[in-house]
Parts: sequence; C-alpha cells; structure tokens
Amino acid sequence: MRLVVDLNKCQGYAQCAFLAPDVFAMHGEESLIYNPHAPEEQRERLARAVAACPVQAITADGLEDFTGEPGPGPGQVASDGR
Ligand code: SF4
Repeated sequence: MRLVVDLNKCQGYAQCAFLAPDVFAMHGEESLIYNPHAPEEQRERLARAVAACPVQAITADGLEDFTGEPGPGPGQVASDGR
C-alpha cells in the first residue's frame, strides 16, 4: 500500500508514529520518517493514523474501502419492489 505524507503540512505531532509505529517514526523533535510502501497488514493501523493526523497530512492509496461506511455493495441495494 502506497502512502505519502505531505511534509509541508506535517507539524510533527507524532500521532501517526504513536498509532502505527511500524510505518512512522519521529526522527529528532519534529521530522518524520515513514515507510512509503506500508505492508498490507498495517492497513488498520495506518487508517487510524490517517484519521488521527491533526493536519490531514497523510494520504494513502486504497484506504477508502477501509474507512468508508460498510454500505451495501453493488447489486445489493435494498429491494422492496420485485
Ligand atoms: S500525525 Fe500528521 S502532523 Fe503528526 S507527525 Fe504524523 S503526519 Fe505529521
């Protein structure tokens, strides 16, 4: 899973490093280092980190499925008429 942190937005709050320590780490006081190719098993932690970032600096591919409401899939719309 690819991810990008906008380091111009990042304020070094370290929420992401706390929530997904295998993907994000603080280097010094304010600079963030991260793995731009996070392993698939980090998806859940990553989703929490994305949600927790106070400045929405983290963008990750393919997380929409995880964070979205578990709505009905295609072809499973409520059918009250036959
Ligand atoms: S949570 Fe957001 S602002 Fe804080 S270190 Fe991570 S990317 Fe930067």
